[in-house]
Amino acid sequence: MTEETLNGASIGAGALLSVLREGPARTRTELVELTGLARTTVSQRLDALLRHRWVVAADTSTSSGGRPAAAFAFNRAARLVLAADLGVTHHRVAITDLGTTVLAERTADVPIDREPESTLAWLAQTFAELLAESGYDLANVCGAGIGLPGPVEYSTGRPVSPPLMPGWDRFPVPEWLGERLGVPVLVDNDVNIMALGEHWVGYPEADQLIFVKIGTGIGCGIISDGRLHRGAQGAAGDIGHIRVVDADEVVCHCGNTGCVEAVAGSAALAARITASGVLAKDGRDVVRLLDLGDPEVVHLVRQAGRETGDVLASIVNFFNPGAIVIGGDIAEAGEHFLAGVREVIYKRSLPLATRHLRIQASKLGDHAGIIGAAVMVIEHVLAPQAVDTTVVV
Ligand SMILES: [Zn+2]
Repeated sequence: MTEETLNGASIGAGALLSVLREGPARTRTELVELTGLARTTVSQRLDALLRHRWVVAADTSTSSGGRPAAAFAFNRAARLVLAADLGVTHHRVAITDLGTTVLAERTADVPIDREPESTLAWLAQTFAELLAESGYDLANVCGAGIGLPGPVEYSTGRPVSPPLMPGWDRFPVPEWLGERLGVPVLVDNDVNIMALGEHWVGYPEADQLIFVKIGTGIGCGIISDGRLHRGAQGAAGDIGHIRVVDADEVVCHCGNTGCVEAVAGSAALAARITASGVLAKDGRDVVRLLDLGDPEVVHLVRQAGRETGDVLASIVNFFNPGAIVIGGDIAEAGEHFLAGVREVIYKRSLPLATRHLRIQASKLGDHAGIIGAAVMVIEHVLAPQAVDTTVVV
């Protein structure tokens, strides 16, 4: 540990890179002022970062009209990231840069309930094709991030008793895929990576954020102090089986009654709409009927929003988030679902907890997953300690 510190951490090349990632291009003089390091130390670390292409020379304009000073910026094009958001039937696969810009992407409908090897072999092949089509090479890739539709033990990247993909239980996804790709592979559940994506790109100022995904199931990802909170076993945010009041007659697939996803999830909502006399097979049908403005459908969607809001009101009191972001087709298809959520949260939560609370629809929509998968890799690869181990100063 050196005496030179920034926010309490020693300032190696990795910390210097973090300063450049979080701000505009900086001159040597500015970096000396920002870090308190000696000018020769700043120069040594910059040289090392330049050699590894993490940093590039940038244009600067000087207001004084003198000769522009050399400035340096984080090089978002230094490496590529492979990102995949695997769903139960629908997948999105992409290549991004280090700033989460999508450089190439593909979607596909392939059921995930087969054995993991076939889905992952398909994924490795799709990554290879995307790289080849866009003129990139695996040698430029720094890691792969994968989101799966089920519980994942983050430390090992292994799915744990995933109900919708039972053949994947404890399968070593990072090792299997890492062997074929030759890069580190990180795996998390789909809702966690969506929360990461929304926080990084959509709501970077909201350091206490709850991302709620409304699908057949209902789950949430928790950003606490700007970081994903996964819980002791990676099960944090599994709110789908919290009980809604006055719904005891509804039986959930988990064996309990009145669970919020069995009452207000998209499949439950489609069933309620069908029972009211309008045929709706699934969430897509619900969105289509919402677009048509059917008043009974609007009423039932708003009611599902209220029931979800009932669960979220307790979470607001407990966690005091600055933002609740709601994703999933139905929540994104107009304001009806959100209106129901807002109605109950503002009525039921403590005034102090809702004073500055924002409740909004997802900004990234169906891209939240791949953006978040890329963020997971970027945070891992560009963590100051990780950079320090690879950059020789
Ligand atoms: Zn349940």
